[in-house]
Amino acid sequence: MKTVLLTGGAGFIGSHLCRYLLDKRFRVICVDNLLTGDLNNVASLRANPNFDFIKHDVTKNIHLDEDIDFVLHFASPASPIDYKKLPIQTLKVGSLGTHNALGVAKAKGAKFLLASTSEVYGDPLIHPQPESYWGNVNPIGPRGVYDEAKRFAEALTLAYHRTHKIDTKIVRIFNTYGPHMRRKDGRAIPEFIDQALSGKPITVFGDGSQTRSFCYISDLVDGIYRLMNSDLNEPVNIGNPAEFSVLELANMIKKFTKSKSKIIFKPLPIDDPKVRQPDISKAKKYLKWLPKVEIEEGLNKTISWFNKPSKS
Ligand code: NAD
Repeated sequence: MKTVLLTGGAGFIGSHLCRYLLDKRFRVICVDNLLTGDLNNVASLRANPNFDFIKHDVTKNIHLDEDIDFVLHFASPASPIDYKKLPIQTLKVGSLGTHNALGVAKAKGAKFLLASTSEVYGDPLIHPQPESYWGNVNPIGPRGVYDEAKRFAEALTLAYHRTHKIDTKIVRIFNTYGPHMRRKDGRAIPEFIDQALSGKPITVFGDGSQTRSFCYISDLVDGIYRLMNSDLNEPVNIGNPAEFSVLELANMIKKFTKSKSKIIFKPLPIDDPKVRQPDISKAKKYLKWLPKVEIEEGLNKTISWFNKPSKS
């Protein structure tokens, strides 16, 4: 049985990965300090003898006695409201946290996978964004703490690959959604669903013409698993290229929740990207990966989960 160390495993994506890897017969050690995660996300896994939860801040030294085959580094605040509230923790987990996680991979001879983000492309001047695009990031703007932390994390990961010959992988994740997102985490889909279900106005930033591409969580997890088992050491985009304006998204959620909420408009946050769409040619060619879940199905599954009284 192979052992995975998963940092950030109690978060939205991390908890889905924990479940998926346990189903694939991995032993999973989930390390999380619960800064933005929730132990309830992994509550149903705790009885599994192949699962361990360790509450630990990965910006501090990580010490484990047992053998590790894969280190998956997902710890980081990920929603704009989180990283704007936690700017220093965000920079620290991208830099010191990535350094510590790479240190474990080096000491144990493990493979390493970094959760990076489409935010490394900033407010892109090329559309859709291929991995070869270097991005358009404002390093000192309010979003810079997240974007630059991930850009540094990518640079450090490839430095460990080139210097220490570690088998590293980097996934550039585009907006992903699904069950286990926090209702109030500020990202468009949970925010709109929360507002629609509680009959509050649905708040769209700007005129809502900015676009986003949304990937359902099961498609992302499938892509990550294929990347883990590939020999690609350089970044790979994983996201769903179907692109919608934020206003279209708000209208879809209003319709699927049968909500009477009004849609209202608020000023666009600073440095908010105007467009976002992954070029997934690399994932298609080398991982044979394609997203399968269409927006209507994904949104309906997410809405049903938000409506469930017990969130397991
Ligand atoms: P999340 O906030 O739900 O999960 C992040 C987890 O990391 C949380 O459980 C949090 O407690 C933990 N964490 C943060 N700092 C830590 C630290 N110092 N030590 C230990 N644990 C720490 O966010 P998510 O959406 O699940 O994102 C997971 C990863 O995927 C992040 O690295 C994020 O940057 C990346 N990502 C997510 C998306 C998305 O659409 N959800 C898009 C791009 C990239």
